[in-house]
Amino acid sequence: MTKEKSFQFCPKCLSKDVSNDPSLESIAGGQLFNKHKCNKCGYSALLFPEMTEEEYEKLKEKIGEK
Ligand SMILES: [Zn+2]
Repeated sequence: MTKEKSFQFCPKCLSKDVSNDPSLESIAGGQLFNKHKCNKCGYSALLFPEMTEEEYEKLKEKIGEK
């Protein structure tokens, strides 16, 4: 059994502490895009990369702790 549970993470600090950040811009523009914001480093973007737990662990190993 494999649990393909994917989540979004911050491409800058690799934190999983990401939340939706509905900006006034997107609301005013009538768009359904929610911005995402990293609660750890404050980085925000329209799209955050999404990964499964397995892929994420691999990525972390590759990059290493700083
Ligand atoms: Zn971050």
